[in-house]
Amino acid sequence: MASLFSNRIQLVQGDITRQSVSAIVNAANSSLLGGGGVDGAIHRAGGPAILEECRAIRARQGGCKTGEAVITTGGRLPAAHVIHTVGPVWNGGRKGEPELLANCYRNSLRLAEERQLESVAFPGISTGIYGYPKPEAAAVAVHEVRQWLAVHDWPQRVVFVVFDEENRRLYEQELAG
Ligand code: ADP
Repeated sequence: MASLFSNRIQLVQGDITRQSVSAIVNAANSSLLGGGGVDGAIHRAGGPAILEECRAIRARQGGCKTGEAVITTGGRLPAAHVIHTVGPVWNGGRKGEPELLANCYRNSLRLAEERQLESVAFPGISTGIYGYPKPEAAAVAVHEVRQWLAVHDWPQRVVFVVFDEENRRLYEQELAG
């Protein structure tokens, strides 16, 4: 069930690979060659075309740095595109993690704007294997998306897709505030 927090921000609990949006965001790693968690789920559901484009990007620019983003096809996913962004590994919070996480949201939204994508779905970047504390990560995610939407027309709609109960509660709190 999607909760509507504004006409441009929604919260959905479930699997991001099932979302019918213009682009889903992948919590990738800097190799762009796939991994566990949401990354593995996206490559499995979208098929080999995604990895093929990731390899081509790697050959051109040598992967993707933390905080940056690149865009590929969505392959067999309902979403036409995947935006791959590399979240920071949590290392105590004084190694620039909040700014790097904010960059992930901004750079992903910039790619969506450049292509005038109608809708983008984000997972909780860095809140799995990368260990970013979920409350702080939810605050960054909601703040950055709100800031972006306040001054940009594209994307028209952002969907936060949470997998677990804890993130659902945290996003609900952030979005209600
Ligand atoms: P990271 O390495 O950036 O921490 P993970 O993939 O380990 O990335 O986790 C990021 C977040 O995505 C976690 O909150 C995890 O619960 C969530 N997640 C994992 N699989 C899915 C999925 N299929 N759809 C949406 N969210 C998912």
